[in-house]
Amino acid sequence: MAFGRALWKGIMLTYRTFRENISCRLGNGSRIRFWIDNWIGDEALSSRFPYIFNVSNAKLGTVGSIGQVFDGHINWNFQFRRNLYDWEHDQLEELLQVLVQVEFTDDQDSWRWQGSRQGSFSVRSMYEKLIHEWGTRIGVAQPFPMELVWRIPIAPNCKFFFWQVILGRVLTKDHLIHIGTTISSVCSLCSMMNETISHLFLHCPLALEVWFTITSPRRRAFTHILCSDSVEELFIAWPASLGTEIGRRSWSALPYAVISVLWKIKNDAIFNSRMSSIDRICVEIKTYIWFWMANWQGRKNFFFQDLLLRWHEVILGLLIRGNTNCTVVTN
Ligand SMILES: [Zn+2]
Repeated sequence: MAFGRALWKGIMLTYRTFRENISCRLGNGSRIRFWIDNWIGDEALSSRFPYIFNVSNAKLGTVGSIGQVFDGHINWNFQFRRNLYDWEHDQLEELLQVLVQVEFTDDQDSWRWQGSRQGSFSVRSMYEKLIHEWGTRIGVAQPFPMELVWRIPIAPNCKFFFWQVILGRVLTKDHLIHIGTTISSVCSLCSMMNETISHLFLHCPLALEVWFTITSPRRRAFTHILCSDSVEELFIAWPASLGTEIGRRSWSALPYAVISVLWKIKNDAIFNSRMSSIDRICVEIKTYIWFWMANWQGRKNFFFQDLLLRWHEVILGLLIRGNTNCTVVTN
């Protein structure tokens, strides 16, 4: 359920990019919203003329409801809630100049997706837009680190979640406050420091205890968690896996499983007022890893109990076969 919520919230944030890349073709004006939709010029009129948009009582009105045709002329009724100040009059005059070119037709209003040449929407073109936005956000012409998210053998909804993590769009409290929510900024897990993505997933005392426990077979990995400033940095610095196939698969999935479970724990703390023990959290992390290996044929030679009871051997790449006949490689 927690991932369902995360997915939905992610989609809502992605919606902003979606809306900004839709342009409209005006027909009879019955569907396009005058202030909100991008139907005339390069941006929505609400962005271009913010002062007079703020005083309009028809913020969601359609073009056809604000502009009404009499004797072949369009009368614009913006429904301002008060008289305009001088500086607002300047914006109004500019807006009226823009609207001189408007002509209604008898056709329905239509929309066009600017992300593709054909104008039709596709997930791929949306994805490319978001990648471009990511490059703009970090201020360099650097490709989105796809290999850190899309090529990792984890569940598709989790890939979407990690995409949001790397884009800095996961709804941690600092982000919620940034977009206008009035809440406490204190971390949901430790109630000690501000909740940011790097705090929640890397440096929160509870997160550190989880990392310390689950990486205990390879103690040096813990220093990477302490030294990483971001989740992306940790993924890049994550040490190579060792030994057998199950060891390699478990180790490479481990940081993703830890972060996924920490996110779930945070949501449990907020929505269900429930907090799990470190042992319980570690079991859940191993459950995620086991589940993500479901498409691997070799998993049939092992049991979930191998992850629970022989974690050291798994992670050190020493476990060749599960069950009671389990063999440990010795030098
Ligand atoms: Zn914390």
